[in-house]
Amino acid sequence: MTIYDVSMTIDSMMQVYKNREEKKPKITIDQNFEQGSTYESRLDMNLHTGTHMDFPLHILKDGNDSNALDLEHLIRPVKVFDLTMIDDSIDSSDVEPLDIREDDFVLFKTKNSFEEAFNFKFIYLKEDAARHLAKIGVKGVGIDALGIERDQKGHPTHRALLGKEIIIIEGLRLKMVEEGNYFMFALPLKVRDVEALPLSVVLTSI
Ligand SMILES: [Zn+2]
Repeated sequence: MTIYDVSMTIDSMMQVYKNREEKKPKITIDQNFEQGSTYESRLDMNLHTGTHMDFPLHILKDGNDSNALDLEHLIRPVKVFDLTMIDDSIDSSDVEPLDIREDDFVLFKTKNSFEEAFNFKFIYLKEDAARHLAKIGVKGVGIDALGIERDQKGHPTHRALLGKEIIIIEGLRLKMVEEGNYFMFALPLKVRDVEALPLSVVLTSI
């Protein structure tokens, strides 16, 4: 069995959304061996850092938060689609020909997976593609960008998906993964009352 770790590594130099300083994770030392008998670190980061999932509350005022977490939607088969030929954004004409059915969890591999620095023109999922996926009735959509959309006023891609309780995973790293079917283990930190959770995501061949 091949195990693909498709999560981003968290470190203080990692790429963060729009390179914003406040979004960079801070790892500090609470205590070292000069100060005590144990070594302890502290991690301070925005919950949308690296690989993570969004809950409806991220965009919708009265939306569900992490208390609605259901691991059944995160430990399950997924379909990876290779969209590395796309240059700007994934629109409905890119998604319509794909074998995507009700209850599927789809992961989109794009050029983003091959870039380590934040690209302000990252490939994103356009509103019409999100609406198409919501109409099919997918359970989740993952992408290899820190945002599933950019430059769309009012966040319509998030709204189209989160409004239908469709899980969004952002910040995947799919360079090593070929198009096909996999089993996904997407394991979140258990944090109460928040709008996003950091994920460690592993795919295995099936
Ligand atoms: Zn997010």
